[in-house]
Amino acid sequence: MIAQNIFKIQSEIGPAVQLVVVSKYRNIEDIKQAYAAGQRHFAENRVQALLERKAALPNDIHRHLIGHLQSNKVKHIAAFIHCIQSVDSKELLSEIDKQASKHKRVIDCLLQLFIAQEETKFGMDAEECKAILKAKIAGAWPHVNVIGLMGMASLTDNVEQVRAEFSSLKSLYDELKDLHGLRVLSMGMSSDYAIAVAAGSNLIRVGSKVFE
Ligand SMILES: *Cc1c(COP(=O)(O)O)cnc(C)c1O
Repeated sequence: MIAQNIFKIQSEIGPAVQLVVVSKYRNIEDIKQAYAAGQRHFAENRVQALLERKAALPNDIHRHLIGHLQSNKVKHIAAFIHCIQSVDSKELLSEIDKQASKHKRVIDCLLQLFIAQEETKFGMDAEECKAILKAKIAGAWPHVNVIGLMGMASLTDNVEQVRAEFSSLKSLYDELKDLHGLRVLSMGMSSDYAIAVAAGSNLIRVGSKVFE
């Protein structure tokens, strides 16, 4: 039962951690059940899915993007997106800034870091993250609000490795948060959110465990 799954996860993580339900690949009826249970933060990994779900679901939903975003697609979501969690380059940030300004908005974004040992295509390293925050604090991208960091751990049964990957992102977050006003550390999905929360995550992105 979707509602029970949500309540169970919420009771595990406590009130200080935000649950964002990942609704990718789910049908509208399932998402409506989560909505009826009071869930208001949902994430998709594709722009097309975001647009379809926006048309089919209530307007008080906060919509997050968690997948790689191509610059030429930013314009389709700039009017309504609540948070873009998957910012992986300066160029993308510039395009988000440009499109947000057209709608007189300031869009909340997270910088996606690679922390996993496996090769991943998208994300940035700590140096690039720091360079972006430095430029931001100097006045770049006024229509973007960088509110935190996001990362995905390796897909492995090795709990120690996952814990170490999350801890490394937490350390970077702690190093940067006061100076740059960061308040969101997005780490943890169905298989590893307990480890992520123990390591200091305050936002988890959970799909399968909600809809199973
Ligand atoms: C799909 C996805 C999730 C959710 O994965 P589950 O294992 O279904 O909980 C979380 N974060 C990102 C970036 C994803 O692509």
